[in-house]
Amino acid sequence: MKFSENYSLKGANSFGFEVSAEYCCEITSLSELREALAFADGKGLDVLVLGGGSNLILVDDIPGLVILNCLRGITVKADVDDPGKVCVTAAAGENWHEFVRYTLENGAFGLENLSLIPGTVGAAPMQNIGAYGVEIKDRMLSLTALDRETGELYEFTTEACEFGYRDSIFKQRAAGRYIITEVSFMLCKECCPVLEYAGLANYFEGLGVESPGGLQISDYICEVRRAKLPDPSELGNAGSFFKNPLVSVARREAILQDYPDLVSFADGEGYKLAAGWLIDRLGWKGRRLGDAAVYDKQALVLVNHGAATGSDILRLAQAIQDDVFSHFDVHLEIEPRTFPG
Ligand code: FAD
Ligand code: NAP
Repeated sequence: MKFSENYSLKGANSFGFEVSAEYCCEITSLSELREALAFADGKGLDVLVLGGGSNLILVDDIPGLVILNCLRGITVKADVDDPGKVCVTAAAGENWHEFVRYTLENGAFGLENLSLIPGTVGAAPMQNIGAYGVEIKDRMLSLTALDRETGELYEFTTEACEFGYRDSIFKQRAAGRYIITEVSFMLCKECCPVLEYAGLANYFEGLGVESPGGLQISDYICEVRRAKLPDPSELGNAGSFFKNPLVSVARREAILQDYPDLVSFADGEGYKLAAGWLIDRLGWKGRRLGDAAVYDKQALVLVNHGAATGSDILRLAQAIQDDVFSHFDVHLEIEPRTFPG
């Protein structure tokens, strides 16, 4: 197995930041993962596992060993208890979108709303990826992860992952402890469309299609996302930069007094505010601080026009957070993780 020193991570993070890893290797099997961890232990190095690098802010060179996850393989099994269900397991290094398309093309439905999310299968549970009203917690059965404390493989049920809104145990109290090696999903042989997001329902109503198929939904979501979001291979970004804030009924009402066009959605006991709307309303769309900028078609996405660093992006983010806080009394939380931490 090859361990490269001073390895450029420019191509391994979707912002395209010019930083290096002290050591870097690719793993294609569980035994290579164990070999990589033994190498790191032998040298006393910290370890960072990366998938597609699409949910990261790399502010500086990464000390220690970066492991690029290239574990591959997909298996499909009929569910013994329910003839309408099928269990699909994918290795953690599989590309998420290719995996979603594979399931749909093979008659297993449920992941169509999560089409075209960049990154790997193994990173998807980290923040319980979600889009268009579906989160992976709604479709996941279990996952397998290597416990760095014991060296053993451990199986997590969906419940054990402690999933929340863009959150899981792997981002919280177990951060850094587990390396996810494969994820299993319980999917359906019949497509049950989830069209609660206005854009989806209107589109299919307009076509006169009452119950679209999984591939139809996926195709449309891909089309919308391609039109709305910057392609990281052309313009560096990490998708939505801030989470949508959850606020109390009273806070929402106070904001509505001054901003009656506020976009919000009932959520539990309070409301979820559209963070992109808050940022856009304060005039940030398209604004730049050097090469760090707010994307001109979607205010929730920060972009790197070429030479921005992770620190430049964080400075821009701080200016936006301060502005949103002073106008709306709402704190915006950053979604991607920052390294070195
Ligand atoms: P990475 O960025 O490589 O890693 C993210 C974190 O997970 C890191 O902390 C890393 O150490 C850890 N990690 C990675 N693999 C493993 C593993 N096998 N075991 C343990 N830890 C691991 N997210 C959404 O939720 N919904 C969206 O609709 C969405 N749209 C996006 C659109 C664009 C254009 C972009 C650029 C991003 C978008 N994202 C979205 C964010 C991102 O794609 C997802 O969070 C994705 O799951 C990240 O996968 P990755 O492989 O790139 O993870
Ligand atoms: P959109 O459809 O323009 O909607 C704007 C915001 O309103 C979204 O953030 C969404 O919340 C919320 N929303 C819309 N309809 C809703 C409904 N019926 N019920 C509850 N909430 C509703 O958003 P968009 O920017 O084009 O993104 C579309 C989807 O892709 C969203 O789900 C978004 O989260 C996801 N996405 C995520 C990322 C990322 O990096 N995390 C990047 C791009 C897109 P939610 O965000 O909570 O869904």
